[in-house]
Amino acid sequence: MTNEIRQNLTEIQDRITRAAKQCGRAPESVRLVAVSKTKPAKMLKEAVEAGATILGENYIQEALEKTAELAGLDVAWHFIGHLQSNKAKYAVPHFSLIHSVDSLKLAREIDKQAAKINKIQDILVQVNISGEATKSGATDQEAVELVEEIARLENVRIKGLMTMPPYFDDPDRAKPFFRQLKELAGEIRSRGIANVSMNELSMGMTGDFEAAIEEGATLVRVGTAIFGARSYQ
Ligand SMILES: *Cc1c(COP(=O)(O)O)cnc(C)c1O
Repeated sequence: MTNEIRQNLTEIQDRITRAAKQCGRAPESVRLVAVSKTKPAKMLKEAVEAGATILGENYIQEALEKTAELAGLDVAWHFIGHLQSNKAKYAVPHFSLIHSVDSLKLAREIDKQAAKINKIQDILVQVNISGEATKSGATDQEAVELVEEIARLENVRIKGLMTMPPYFDDPDRAKPFFRQLKELAGEIRSRGIANVSMNELSMGMTGDFEAAIEEGATLVRVGTAIFGARSYQ
């Protein structure tokens, strides 16, 4: 198993490097988030020992168990799942980046919890580019206003945007959605809002991360291709 995770990671890193070079980007400008939801702590540890530097988790209860079990492991934890405001207090102490902030209510709660522990919490604003009812995230139109409002919170820093396009068998079809997220980030950047940087674009998963890199992803969130298929019991 150890070897399999190591091999998978090497292969994904190679593909990231190739995809970046192919479009004239520096490979270091793309960071891999190894998405470990539903996978046991043992596998996460193997991934980190094989070179993973960021682990992405979706479910707060599960994440807390793993961060406790793997305390001391030299890795950054990112929260990428839907976060309810009343769970912000559990997320803030453990995660260096929360990718999935989609409301002012959640941002305010993160701010409050971060202030309590003297932390500036880095976040991304999740945008539902496709407008699919099943996906969370602010709409394009809401996103700009949401960023302006969140920017006023003292203990939260917006670093960029995150999105999940619809699933397509052909990853090329996801590109317009990735492109739209990048354009939105550009539009927000041009407003020069204090305390807001738009340097991170979190987009691309197992099926489409190369397309996302081509469109400017700086954080790709890859689970299945590293840890294998998930089974939800
Ligand atoms: C599960 C998940 C991923 C990883 O998906 P894979 O297809 O397994 O790579 C990425 N982003 C989010 C938000 C997820 O929930």
